[in-house]
Amino acid sequence: MIEILLKDGTQSYEQDIRELAMAFCPGEPFVYEEKTEARLSVRARRVEDGDFTILVIEKDADTGGEKRRFEAGFKLTEDRRDNKSAIKKALYEALKELTGRELPWGTLTGIRPVKLIERQIAEGKDDREIGEHMKSVYLISDEKLNLITDIARRQERVLSGLDYKNGWSLYIGIAFCPTTCLYCSFTSYPIEKWRGRLKEYLDCIRKELRLISRCTREEGNPLFGRRLQTVYVGGGTPTSLPEEYLRELMEIIYEETDMSSVAEFTVEAGRPDSLSPEKLDILREFNVGRISINPQTMNQKTLELIGRRHSVEDVKRAFHMARKKGFDNINMDLIMGLPGEDISDVRHTLKEIEELSPDSLTVHALAIKRAARLNTERDNWVNVARAAGEEASLMTELGRQCALGMGMVPYYLYRQKNMAGNQENVGYAGEDKVNLYNILMMEELHTVIGVGAGSSSKAVIENDDKAVFSGNENRVERFENMKNVSEYMSRIDELLDKKESFLRALS
Ligand code: SF4
Repeated sequence: MIEILLKDGTQSYEQDIRELAMAFCPGEPFVYEEKTEARLSVRARRVEDGDFTILVIEKDADTGGEKRRFEAGFKLTEDRRDNKSAIKKALYEALKELTGRELPWGTLTGIRPVKLIERQIAEGKDDREIGEHMKSVYLISDEKLNLITDIARRQERVLSGLDYKNGWSLYIGIAFCPTTCLYCSFTSYPIEKWRGRLKEYLDCIRKELRLISRCTREEGNPLFGRRLQTVYVGGGTPTSLPEEYLRELMEIIYEETDMSSVAEFTVEAGRPDSLSPEKLDILREFNVGRISINPQTMNQKTLELIGRRHSVEDVKRAFHMARKKGFDNINMDLIMGLPGEDISDVRHTLKEIEELSPDSLTVHALAIKRAARLNTERDNWVNVARAAGEEASLMTELGRQCALGMGMVPYYLYRQKNMAGNQENVGYAGEDKVNLYNILMMEELHTVIGVGAGSSSKAVIENDDKAVFSGNENRVERFENMKNVSEYMSRIDELLDKKESFLRALS
């Protein structure tokens, strides 16, 4: 347990302080009052005008008394961004001294570190200037700096031929899966239980798409005149829909949406047990170019532990079946740090993946999400998850080497809270198999409209036409669909009204 005691105006930086302390001490709960049983105490306060101090105390486990302390000073000014970075640097130094650890990401705790590089590229800085800035402000390691700079430069090249600022992307969420995975925090319902209402769900998707299409034809609407560039059908597992409904979904997309300018059409076929030759034929028939078949691990005991209810052989069968059907852009997702897995399990998974040779590989570090069973049944799982977390950095490094060995390059990256080993998720792909949607959505480079239960829409509003590759220059407005699938269907008309107002208000 870590106690956080903030005074004299430092309270408004509580979130930043907590996030950084969390990165040093993953999984530990926080309290905001003095507690004898707390292991660490973080205290920030003013010592004199403008001069502040952050004090970190390691406590004696039995008495709660002071065991070791480290103190670092910082100044507060009028600029909130400067203040954040000064506080985080001081806290970083204190925690580094106390724990003897350094964090490869330094003081960076945000979800989109690549954006920071993009902003500097847009300002015309070269790699040396970017490196100096990132190291002095965020204390980032060379390894992570090189990774995000490489990704930012690649994204710049990949997008150079795409007029993405005058385009938009569509996300369709199909909120059903064969079973619910242990770590799942997405909107996902067991398909068998909802079989009787799938038609109703697809009707709601149709209504949403119809509304959006109307907006694209409406002069003055922010979608007016913009071309749909990428379509991503995710969830959930879209291919868990029975064949007749998967076909109906495809027909709805084409009937309600102008697909003529779409450069990329992706469907998550995440769970191998959800695929059949007939479903793959349907996806081919409707020009789906990229699918994901996600093993997460190639260890049978772990698949059972995480509630996937399919076998390693199912993964291989599904992959070969998709290849036979002509899919030449297959992604596979892996998770590093799964409960009970050690380095040798990861090595085994990667060897199996190399043999399959997918076209892209997304290497995730396990994130313990609030709503996931991994968290709600935490007492059963947290120790195994944390133990693996200590090895997570080596695991993600092995994932990186595997991807590079298959001729892939890193092309997008994001971080989440509570990730094993304070790592990151990285998408790797062959140079010609990069997924545009992932870049555009993750870096918030253009508007993505989501339909379906649990989907979110992000409207990106350009502030400056000259800010060509500068996501951070943009204003992002969000709209969330209901997560509860029953509520989504029963309140669809209300949702449509609100969504229409949201879209109109942007113009
Ligand atoms: S396949 Fe994905 S969406 Fe479905 S339950 Fe597992 S983690 Fe959740």
